[in-house]
Parts: sequence; structure tokens; C-alpha cells
Amino acid sequence: MAKLLEGKFVAEKIKQEIRAQVQGLKKPPVLVSVWVGDNPGAATYARSQAKTAEALGIVYKPFNLDQNITEDALIDFILKLNADKAVNGIIVQMPVPQHIDYQKICEFISPLKDVEGMHPANIGKLLFGRSRIVACTANAIMELLNSTGVDLYGKEVVIVGHSEIVGKPLMLLLLEKFATVTICHIGTSKVGKLEEHVRRAEILIVAVGQAGLIKGDWIKEGAIVVDVGINMVGDKIVGDVEFEVAQKRASYITPVPGGVGPLTVTVLMRNLVEATKAQQ
Ligand code: NAD
Repeated sequence: MAKLLEGKFVAEKIKQEIRAQVQGLKKPPVLVSVWVGDNPGAATYARSQAKTAEALGIVYKPFNLDQNITEDALIDFILKLNADKAVNGIIVQMPVPQHIDYQKICEFISPLKDVEGMHPANIGKLLFGRSRIVACTANAIMELLNSTGVDLYGKEVVIVGHSEIVGKPLMLLLLEKFATVTICHIGTSKVGKLEEHVRRAEILIVAVGQAGLIKGDWIKEGAIVVDVGINMVGDKIVGDVEFEVAQKRASYITPVPGGVGPLTVTVLMRNLVEATKAQQ
């Protein structure tokens, strides 16, 4: 039976380091969270960030902007935050309304204040292995893998999902550790090859958003399984992997909820502290 990879334990260790670093700064870091419209998902995420920030001595300033704000007005708002010396980090909560291009907005956040690692300059640095600020979910997954003590060198890692916030940055982080990385996506499934790739994974990371996509009996004996997916099935939150069967085959597996999720906000705060140190 697999050991559970629970984010809260790893998060607690990182929080202790963050608290110590915050105390060593000239003044507490200030994180501005911009949230457009009334999407309940963005609101939940912002509440969780506010709570974590407060517990770490970080100042959290939410700005809820009107659903109908134009892209230009949002960019102006961001440029003012870039120029404000009292602001150390800026995040734009996802999802944004459809008339706003999220990637374009990210390009206007100063790379020094881009605590989500989504500015092209930070993504470029990641490619060269020189980034201090890395996308939070990918970074959180690396922390979970490190917590198992497993050496990633030469390991067969299969990532299912190639998004900009998970699969792609994670691929670069894993390559830095000399893992052998395969990325699967919708195309892999459509040509009927997903099972074959998943079956040979010594480390499997799944970030798709489809309950039960990965069958439990596809999991290689002793594999480490990180399930990033979040799906509502009835009134329950589940991941993308059939947990009960997978748990019997894996050596480590993340519960959903309780795996990657609790770590991402903590990693975001660590990015903020890194950004603040670079600015001071
Ligand atoms: P996305 O929606 O941007 O991309 C989905 C990916 O899945 C794409 O690469 C797509 O090609 C692939 N895909 C779709 N159908 C597939 C199929 N049948 N077979 C194989 N691949 C398929 O994804 P995202 O924003 O990275 O989010 C993925 C999931 O992870 C969602 O459930 C999201 O809620 C969750 N998530 C969780 C956290 C967390 O902190 N726990 C953070 C980010 C995302």
C-alpha cells in the first residue's frame, strides 16, 4: 500500500523557512492580488492566499476589479502596481473574464514582481536553469517529489498534461535533475497511446482535469504518483487517477484533495520572499 504524499507536511517545513526569511527583511513583503469579476473559484483561491499570507507575516492586498474592465484599463492598473515601490509581488487570479487575454496581461507584470513565474522573461530563465521564480504548481510538485528522497537522475517520468502552469515548466525542472521525461496530452490519448506511456512511468504526474482518466491498474508497481487534477464528482473532489486501485500499486501517491493543493500557496509566498529580496 502506497504512502500518502500530503502537501501540508512539506508546506509546514517551507513555512518555517519563509517566516525566518520574512523576519530578516527590512519590511514585510506586500503581495497584491488582482481579481477580475465575481468568479467563485478565483475568490476561494484569494481567500486561501490571504490566510496563508497573514500567518507568515506577509501583507496581502486584494483588489476586486469590475467584470467589465477593459484589457487596457487592467494593463494600466498593473503598470501602476509595477511602479509602486511599496508593492513586491503581483498576481492576477485565474480565471479572468473571456474578453481578457491572461497571457498578454502576464507580459505586463514586471518580471521582478511576477511571483507566479508567468512572465516570458522568467519562463526564459527557467529554460536556462537560472530562474528564481518558478510557476507555483510545478514547483510544488518538485517539492513533493523531493520529500520522498528519491533520486530523479535517469528516472522514467511521465507527465500527463502539457499546460503552461504545470506540464511545461515541470518538464524543465525535471530535466535539470536529469530525469527522462515524456509529456503526454490529448494527442497521446487520441492515438491510443496514453496507457502504454503511463504503464512504464516510475514517476507519474497527471494534470488534466478528468476524473478516472488514469486507470488504477495502469500504474507500475512501486511508482510515485502525483495527481494534480481537481474534479467534482457529485459532492466529492477527486483527482484524475483511480485512487483506490492505484494506491495498492504505487509506493507514494498524493491524496486529492490534500496533495499538491496545500503546497502551491506556500510556494507562491516563497516566490514573493525571493522577489522581495531581489528588489531590496
Ligand atoms: P489545462 O486545462 O490547461 O490543460 C489540460 C491538459 O490535459 C492539456 O495538456 C490537454 O492536452 C490534456 N488533456 C486533455 N484531455 C486529455 C486526455 N483525454 N488525455 C490526455 N491528456 C488530456 O490544465 P491545467 O490548467 O494544467 O489543469 C489541469 C488540472 O489540474 C485541472 O483539474 C486543474 O484544476 C488542476 N490544477 C490543480 C492545481 C493544484 O494546485 N492542485 C493547480 C493547477 C491545476
